[in-house]
Amino acid sequence: MQKLEQVYEGKAKKVFQTDDPELYIVDYKDDATAFNGLKKGTIVGKGVINNQMTNRLMAKMEKAGIPTHFVKELSQRETLVKKVSIVPLEVIIRNISAGSFAKRYGVEEGIVFDAPTIEFSYKNDDLGDPLLNTYHALALKLATREEVETIEKYAFAVNEVLKAFWAECGVTLVDFKLEFGKLSDGTIVLADEISPDTCRLWDSKTHEKLDKDRFRRDLGGVEDAYAEIMNRLLSHDAD
Ligand code: ADP
Ligand code: UDP
Repeated sequence: MQKLEQVYEGKAKKVFQTDDPELYIVDYKDDATAFNGLKKGTIVGKGVINNQMTNRLMAKMEKAGIPTHFVKELSQRETLVKKVSIVPLEVIIRNISAGSFAKRYGVEEGIVFDAPTIEFSYKNDDLGDPLLNTYHALALKLATREEVETIEKYAFAVNEVLKAFWAECGVTLVDFKLEFGKLSDGTIVLADEISPDTCRLWDSKTHEKLDKDRFRRDLGGVEDAYAEIMNRLLSHDAD
């Protein structure tokens, strides 16, 4: 599969056309950003880890009946995916309070919820990804009611599969962000990535952070944390 014209360069990945109009190639970079691009840096080896981790986790989702954009890993940093029209919603699931939730509602991090929460933000960098609810998403015609319902169902299903897998690895899944897209026939599929850039992952015993918060909060040991979480995945992932 040939990489043709670049269609997009984002903060963490580049997206290329291919000779198949229904397929894109995603190329993962080591660039790291936080706070809507205000903080910039490099996490050496991150692109390779995020590519390989995303693909293994996407394969688990497919196995669990959740359709995804994943087609084939092409190299350490490159993956062939189904081209989608991204639904401009960042879908955030939380099992434990952290980050913007803790800040917004004035609570400490680490409160374990009785049931997971879901929230949406409008994927729009110029506006700083503002929080919105289903009524707002429908008013803005970002998705239909049926699409929002499908997205919610898939997002909670992803949470169950991910939580169980990370628990086997001695890792607590605190929260994460998903993106969904539409294939040319309108089918909703899970797209983008599932990685330490987009999930909060804590060691189950020590609560040590094994994710991008080490970069956001200048905690040090960023590369080591990414390597550690990848090793945990590899040693518990059968295939
Ligand atoms: P950002 O746009 O937030 O800076 P990235 O650097 O990760 O993010 O860029 C990758 C872009 O590709 C994102 O905007 C994401 O929504 C988009 N994307 C992910 N998967 C697909 C896909 N299968 N088809 C089309 N676009 C995709
Ligand atoms: N997240 C993400 N991209 C974003 C915003 C959030 O991947 O643009 C992820 C983040 O890594 C965390 C979860 O979504 O796992 C919840 O993030 P939160 O709303 O707490 O925001 P933050 O603290 O990152 O500002």
